[in-house]
Amino acid sequence: MVNPRLDPEEELRQMSQRRPPYYWESLNFPELMKEYPPPPDYFNTIYRMPRDQIRDLQEKRFKTQIDRAWDVPFYARRWKAAGLDKSDIRSIADITKIPAYTVSDIRDSIALQPPFGEFMGVSPEDGKRMPLVIQTSGGTTGLPRAMLYSPRDREIMAILGSRRLTMHGVRPGDLVQVTRAMGLPNGGFAVREALWKYTGAVPVMTGSGNITPTRRQIEIMQAWGVSILVGFPAYLRHMALFARDEMKIDPRSLGIRALDSNLGVEDRKTVEDLWGARCHDFYGAHETGMVAADCLYRNGMHIQEDAFIVEILDPQTGQPVPDGSKGNLCVTSLFKYSAPLIRYNISDVSCKMHGTCDCGSTLQRLERIFGRSDNMIKLRGVNVFPEAVGALVAAESRSTGEFICVVERVGAAGQDEMTVMVEAADNSVDRAKLQADLQVRFREALSVKLLVNIVSRGELDPLTGLSKNTKANRLLDKRKS
Ligand SMILES: [Zn+2]
Repeated sequence: MVNPRLDPEEELRQMSQRRPPYYWESLNFPELMKEYPPPPDYFNTIYRMPRDQIRDLQEKRFKTQIDRAWDVPFYARRWKAAGLDKSDIRSIADITKIPAYTVSDIRDSIALQPPFGEFMGVSPEDGKRMPLVIQTSGGTTGLPRAMLYSPRDREIMAILGSRRLTMHGVRPGDLVQVTRAMGLPNGGFAVREALWKYTGAVPVMTGSGNITPTRRQIEIMQAWGVSILVGFPAYLRHMALFARDEMKIDPRSLGIRALDSNLGVEDRKTVEDLWGARCHDFYGAHETGMVAADCLYRNGMHIQEDAFIVEILDPQTGQPVPDGSKGNLCVTSLFKYSAPLIRYNISDVSCKMHGTCDCGSTLQRLERIFGRSDNMIKLRGVNVFPEAVGALVAAESRSTGEFICVVERVGAAGQDEMTVMVEAADNSVDRAKLQADLQVRFREALSVKLLVNIVSRGELDPLTGLSKNTKANRLLDKRKS
C-alpha cells in the first residue's frame, strides 16, 4: 500500500499562496480586438483593405515573427546551417532565402528534444507564467503531434475561426452542431472556442459518430432546432444518407441552412443536394489555425492575410510558382508565439487564383485543396490523388460515395496498380455496369487506368473507419507492407 507522506502545512501553504497565471489577465483583450478584429469589424477593415496597406501590416508582423523565430532553437539551428544571419532577413522580400520545412523536419525536432520538440519554443514549465493548452493533429498513425498553445495564439485562432464561420452563414443565436472529433485533435475544440467566444452562436458539441451515434446526432438536430452543421464532408454525407434511408427522415426537412466542411476535392454539389443547404469550404491545420475560407460566392477561399503569408511552391524546385499554377502550400504565420511558423511546407496541393472576388474582398484566394502531395500515387507517370478519385465517386448516384484506393505492386515487372473499392448504393444496383462506367469515368478524368471493385453498402467501413473517426482513411498502400 502506498501511503504518500503528506506535509499538511506545506500543502496548505502552496494552495493558499501560490498564484497561477489567470487566463483573463494573460491578454490585453481590447488591444487584441484591434490587432485581429473579429466579426463584424473584420469585414469592414482587413477584408477590404487596399493591397499596399495589407502589405505594410504584413511587413510589420513578419519582422516581429522573425525576431521571435531566432530565439527558437529549431529555426536558429536550421537558419545558421543555411548560412543565414540576422541581417539577411529584413523584409518579406527575403522570404525565399529562408529554407522551408516539412512535417518530417518537425518529427526530427521532436526526436531531438522529446516529447514536444525544439521547434515549440515553450514547454509545460512555462505554464507557471502563462496558461497553456495542448491539442494535436488528427493523425491516425503513431502518436499524434502535440502543439502547446499560448493564450495569445489560442485567442487569435478563435478569432480567425469566427471569421470563417461568419462567412459561412453562422449568426448570433444559431445552434451549430459540431460533428468533429473531440479529445486530443484540435478540430472540435477550435470550432467550439471560435463559435462560443466570437460569433454569438451556440455550439452543440456532439462530436464524431463514436461519441454520439449518427441516429442520436439526427435526433438532436431535429429536436433542438440546429441550423448549421460542421463536419468532414464524408460524415456529412453519411449523416444525410442515414437520416434518409435508415430513419426515413428527409434531411432537407431538418432546416439546416448551411454546411461548414473542409471539402478538399470532395464534390460540393452532392452534399448540398442531400441537405438542401449550401456547403462552404475552408483550409487550416492544427499548427496554423484557420488559413483561408470561402465567402458567400464560394469561388475560392480568401486567405486571412493579416495572419498569414501563403506561398505556393513548385514540388520539385521548392521555388514559388506564379498565380494560377499548382504547387505545395507553404505557410508563414504572422502571429504565433509558441512554435512560430516560418515557411512551413504543408504538402497540401493548392493554387492561388487570379483576379478579385465578387464579394469585394481585396484578399488573395486559394482555388481549393487538390490533395496531399505525400498521399499522391504515381501510376505510369500520372499523379493520382485519392481525394480526386473520391470526388468522382461522390458524384455517382449509384454509389454511397464511400471508397478506398488500394495500391499494389503486381506482376513480374512490379507495376503499380490502383484498385478503387466502391460501395454500391443498394442491392438493386447493376454492379457490372457500375464497375464498367466508373472505369471509363476514371480514365477520362484522371488520364490513367484504375481498376474498380464494387462492394456492398457498409462493407468498406472497417477499412475507412468512417463511422468511428469521421475522418476517413482513403488510401491503403500495400506496397509498404
Ligand atoms: Zn469573396
